[in-house]
Amino acid sequence: MPASAPHAEFPHLLAPLDLGFVTLPNRVLMGSMHVGLEDDVGPLKKMGAYFARRAEGGVGLLVTGGIAPNIDGQVKPFAATLNNRWGAFKHRYVTGPVHDAGGLIAMQILHAGRYAYTPLAVAPSAIKSPISRFKPRGLSGRGVERTIANFVRCAVLAKTAGYDGVEVMGSEGYLINEFVVDKTNKREDAWGGAYEARMRLPVEIVRRTREAVGPEFIIIYRLSMLDLVKGGSTWEQIVTLAKAIEAAGATIINTGIGWHEARVPTIATMVPRAAYTWVTRRLMGEVSIPLITSNRINMPETAEQVLARGDADMVSMARPLLADPDWVKKARDGKRDEINTCIACNQACLDHIFKNQRASCLVNPLACYETEVKIEPTPAPLKVAVVGAGPAGLAFSTTAAKRGHAVTLFDKASQIGGQFNMARKVPGKEEFDETIRYFTTMLGTTGVTLALGQAVAPEDLIGKGYDVVVVAAGVHPRQIDLPGIDLDKVLSYVDVLAGGAAVGDRVAIIGAGGIGFDVAEFLAHDHSAPSPSLDVDAYLAEWGVDKTMEHGGGLKAPVVPPSPRTITMCQRGDKKMGAGLGKTTGWIHRQSLKQKKVTMLTSVTYQKVDEVGLHILRGGEPMVIEADTVVVCAGQICANELVAPLRASGLAVHVIGGAHEAGELDAKRAIDQGTRLAARL
Ligand code: FAD
Ligand code: NAP
Ligand code: SF4
Repeated sequence: MPASAPHAEFPHLLAPLDLGFVTLPNRVLMGSMHVGLEDDVGPLKKMGAYFARRAEGGVGLLVTGGIAPNIDGQVKPFAATLNNRWGAFKHRYVTGPVHDAGGLIAMQILHAGRYAYTPLAVAPSAIKSPISRFKPRGLSGRGVERTIANFVRCAVLAKTAGYDGVEVMGSEGYLINEFVVDKTNKREDAWGGAYEARMRLPVEIVRRTREAVGPEFIIIYRLSMLDLVKGGSTWEQIVTLAKAIEAAGATIINTGIGWHEARVPTIATMVPRAAYTWVTRRLMGEVSIPLITSNRINMPETAEQVLARGDADMVSMARPLLADPDWVKKARDGKRDEINTCIACNQACLDHIFKNQRASCLVNPLACYETEVKIEPTPAPLKVAVVGAGPAGLAFSTTAAKRGHAVTLFDKASQIGGQFNMARKVPGKEEFDETIRYFTTMLGTTGVTLALGQAVAPEDLIGKGYDVVVVAAGVHPRQIDLPGIDLDKVLSYVDVLAGGAAVGDRVAIIGAGGIGFDVAEFLAHDHSAPSPSLDVDAYLAEWGVDKTMEHGGGLKAPVVPPSPRTITMCQRGDKKMGAGLGKTTGWIHRQSLKQKKVTMLTSVTYQKVDEVGLHILRGGEPMVIEADTVVVCAGQICANELVAPLRASGLAVHVIGGAHEAGELDAKRAIDQGTRLAARL
């Protein structure tokens, strides 16, 4: 068959990749990500549907979340393990549907090493990790041999289960990585000491796996190319390991960035797109097998640029394919604007996994619920009015219209997006623009009638022929009662973020929830310079990443642009500031503000505001925070005034998002509620 012509828009991204015994249809790898469906037959069927959906969407090669090769390699007690034939049989629930959908899938083998959240944890040496409660046991020499044999057995079982390959997890600070680096490997036997001895574990795993699985089976090795911890591998060592891994029989090398204990953000939304592909580029030419690059690649044009400039042969994405299973298909079919972009928030994926919940996606609540929530054409189309084009109203309207309902969406603002229009102004939250772009496109393709600039009152809807009204009117900022609260120097977060109100040099912030943190970040940034989240070099400098990789681990002293303002954040509670922020991102927000010298005060009692500033009590002692501006970020209340009169008129009314419940509201809940309501209407 003649080779097809290169794709006009994304010629590198959509080019096939010939691995000798199999050809991948394009350069997109769905990278490994635990979703909480790996563990038993029922969930494995759901996982099969989840991956099959991504295979239908055209992904070149899928990789499962990490599966342990033995009990002591489990990330937590009873975590997914493949160590017997029954296990291999169960995995056919995954490989079968993927192959039926025309896809290829590899299984990741992950031994957690000292990151195992269990007293059974093992490691090269008995050295506790700073992020685990459990001190690991140092493996004996026989234990090392047994571990290698278990990796090989796991790969053979994966082949029996129908997988097209395996990925050997050698990065992120897990067991293999711990062997390679001398700060975690103090062994004095044949597996420790000089670098050649420390890297024997991964090399032997790959060599013996290749011997066992034969030549026509994909072996990906995930190599930690930038540890981001003190005492990590040097560049010379990384190149030496890559060459040895190639010689041992790997098919492809994938890039790992940062150990889990690293204190540098590597995938969160404030990390610029493609911020780490330069690392993979350094390895290009050192080995002849294909290299995959990764981290914060979420749109086709970014992936195309990365591949076109020769940073890698392939790109790895996990979250963007959770967000949109049809990502590849849409890129291929000229529908880039229909891609539901991953905004790298971690809120419904990684944060769920860290709380032992099933992963999903903030912008796509159908992810991992493929067998449970279906969007099907309605047998009985309704005429629906939706009040509020924030995330809840947008998710509802586009999903309901897709099903065939006749939807009119009203918003009093002149643009769609609701509070996302404030969120996207915060440095590091620019990706929120993509969600607004996505919904703008989808309103058009699904045929929603959009009525902007219309503040809806009950009489605008009553008697107008609507079968159903959906109130998605969001929230009102909570007003607080304090002497001096009416002074001009007191602003709300809406005045600052939406109204562009002038803010003085000394600022006190009342309230330290998600919005208090975002306002502090906004005010601590000099807006005449680009946000570091849009400038790779500025971001790397701010977080102390050394592109020259002069020292092992690739770290140097951070250079943080000073805040143009003196900022003090306050909260009444005595919990750690930002305790309610995301599990995987809260530390980044805290550290970022700390680096900008923002003062954080807990256990505050507010007294008054006057010309001097904000007067408070702390530990019973009076204190004045001198401030030119006081910004109130004290939470929100429901905007649900329309509900009672509409219901009283006899209309069928549904209430979603902030209008339904303002406490602990986030876009995850708003979009989920809107989507699920539309799915069942
Ligand atoms: P809203 O977004 O408030 O939308 C309601 C819409 O209804 C508005 O557009 C309003 O104009 C319209 N409306 C109201 N009354 C009427 C009427 N009578 N007639 C017509 N139109 C009307 N969430 C996260 O999950 N992650 C984050 O990182 C995050 N960051 C944030 C940062 C900031 C600075 C802010 C302010 C919010 C952030 N949020 C975040 C919260 C998130 O934006 C909200 O949870 C979400 O927008 C709520 O969606 P909603 O559709 O219920 O309401
Ligand atoms: P929030 O997280 O509930 O925080 C409200 C803050 O106001 C708290 O610090 C609270 O703390 C304080 N407060 C409440 N009542 C007060 C009163 N009467 N007087 C003084 N202070 C008072 O709400 P938010 O910051 O408005 O954020 C709204 C939602 O948006 C959140 O639920 C959040 O999930 C979402 N969001 C998320 C992110 C994110 O990064 N994931 C970012 C922004 C927003 P004390 O009671 O201790 O004083
Ligand atoms: Fe991306 Fe957020 Fe969805 Fe995770 S929850 S896939 S980070 S958009």
